[in-house]
Amino acid sequence: MKKQAFKDKVKKKNPQTCGERSRTITKMAQIFLIWGILLVGCGQTAVPTATPLPNTPVSQMEPTPTLIASPTAVATQPPPPTATPQLDGLSIGDPYAPELGNAGYDVTHYTLSLSLDPAVENIDATVEIRGVVTAPELATLSLDFVGFTIAETLLDGQPVTFTHKDDKLILFPAQPLPQNSPFALSISYAGNPVERPSPYVGFAASLGMRFVNGQSIYVLSEPDGSRFWFPNNDHPRDKATYRFEITVPRGLTAVANGRLIEQINDETSSTFIWEHNHLMASYLATVVVGDFERLESVSPDGVLLRHYVNDGAREEFDRAIADLGEAVDWMSDLFGPYPYEAFGYVTADVSGVSLETQTMVLLANNMIGQRTTIHELAHMWFGDWVSLDSWQQMWRNEGFATYVQLMWENRDDPENFELAMEAVRSAVEENGEDFPLGNPPPAKLFSFNTYFGGAVFVHELRQEMGDEAFFSGLKTYFATYGDGTASDDEFRAVMETAVGRSLADFFAEWLE
Ligand SMILES: [Zn+2]
Repeated sequence: MKKQAFKDKVKKKNPQTCGERSRTITKMAQIFLIWGILLVGCGQTAVPTATPLPNTPVSQMEPTPTLIASPTAVATQPPPPTATPQLDGLSIGDPYAPELGNAGYDVTHYTLSLSLDPAVENIDATVEIRGVVTAPELATLSLDFVGFTIAETLLDGQPVTFTHKDDKLILFPAQPLPQNSPFALSISYAGNPVERPSPYVGFAASLGMRFVNGQSIYVLSEPDGSRFWFPNNDHPRDKATYRFEITVPRGLTAVANGRLIEQINDETSSTFIWEHNHLMASYLATVVVGDFERLESVSPDGVLLRHYVNDGAREEFDRAIADLGEAVDWMSDLFGPYPYEAFGYVTADVSGVSLETQTMVLLANNMIGQRTTIHELAHMWFGDWVSLDSWQQMWRNEGFATYVQLMWENRDDPENFELAMEAVRSAVEENGEDFPLGNPPPAKLFSFNTYFGGAVFVHELRQEMGDEAFFSGLKTYFATYGDGTASDDEFRAVMETAVGRSLADFFAEWLE
């Protein structure tokens, strides 16, 4: 009743013409440049990115192999959800992505020593992994890792035999590792990264580390791309701290997560040492190499802001981040203090894709603007600080980042915010895709419904709970699950406590 009454009120007060609403929708749609979403409304076409062709239906621009009824297409899909955690090291137990991770150990720290040159498409690396066995006993230890020639594998300083197949690097310790025992791995490898599309990102040719025109390097790993550039336990359920030691030709800059600790120059090369002393999911680890100007400031409340900006992008970038410090503090007030040692963006020669890489957002050169920068900032809380327990719950990352961006944009105009949400709701109703928000087909993980449908659900939840319970619930959610992961059920339980009643039917209606 409350929702309907509200709708009527808005319609009576501000009857929008189709053109007006279409313009609002276009405005809203432009926020989500992330994966190139095409939005059709009122018989018109709004094209928020340069990537898709105008008037191309979503289903044509994004490969949808699950919808093609051919045996070949079916065979290329990931294995069906089975997913009990396998302690022998072949899954971390995410029913949506059972091919990823290992439930038998917990990585505490990665040190990535990488030698990179944009002119040579090659990674020469040693990765050290410290962890603890969580299974009763671990006879083999598997990591997610695709491609490369492995030169050496050490376990606690001693060579250890291994096999490398089916995207897993499996180590065979001489004796099974007992529960709670710490271990240290060192894996040295080299080669050209494998290029293969992810089943979850059908419209990108590949994920992982990409070399651009012999001039720069960037990383795009969500959700399963980090295994294409370093061996790891590739799922947000296993977060760790990171150190990066990146050697590049002299004159280039290497950027990663956290703080730049040291830069060591010799005649021909520079080594950049970065440390991130907060827990981070593997898909958020980043390395970007190029020619950058470093900008630094602090937010009014003292959060360090540092950015790496390509030559030529400076003016546009300055405009995009004019209010960034205020936005960081505003989100800190709403959700809890900004959780990390610094925040900023690195611009990159990638088209139409940006990513919320923790503390150092990958910002596409053709997406520099306030909408993208604020969307990615919101992910520092929604996705980075509290990560997904299962990839199928992507609405909680993208729905909230979308919603928070709309809140920021309309922070001084509540009436316009309601109109904006009304426009998004109509767009979802008219153009939304027909699958449950809480369980999208893999190829639709990053789709219209995930972003806009997710935002509408967040708004409905806020109205259902009332502002006081909604925002106090969110603060509790971050205080409880920050630095870790949460499931939809855990999120719901926190919100139920905040509002003092069951939300089971409400969540089921929206997610299932
Ligand atoms: Zn996003």
